[in-house]
Amino acid sequence: MELLDKLKILADSAKYDASCSSSGSRRTNSKSGIGNGDVSGICHSWGADGRCISLLKILMSNCCVYDCKYCINRCSNSVKRATFTPREIADLTIQFYKRNYIEGLFLSSAVIRNPDYTMERLYETIFILRKEYQFNRLYSC
Ligand code: SF4
Repeated sequence: MELLDKLKILADSAKYDASCSSSGSRRTNSKSGIGNGDVSGICHSWGADGRCISLLKILMSNCCVYDCKYCINRCSNSVKRATFTPREIADLTIQFYKRNYIEGLFLSSAVIRNPDYTMERLYETIFILRKEYQFNRLYSC
């Protein structure tokens, strides 16, 4: 699966994680306006100093082994599935950051295989970003 297809699926899945008001919104530019709003997984939050910051808000995976009835990502639900590798998330974050699209990463995930395995993959992502890319703007839940 192409990276952009994964991004569409996993940014869309993350919008149900209601931590902000702006993720998942779409707005088409008018003739006299500037810029489109699009569903690309970028949301806004507030830093400790009160600044509004843009975050890449995605799931690592929506392939969940559990079946929580209220959840869009439950294993019994018929939705498109995708999983990023830790390297893909790290590279995507750095590329978005260098283009000035985002200031940080908001990363969560469904449970892949089991909770320990999922946490190891999340940790690997953070490790690449922090230690290899020296990236210090990470937010998680
Ligand atoms: S474990 Fe999380 S992602 Fe998986 S079905 Fe339950 S609420 Fe959804």
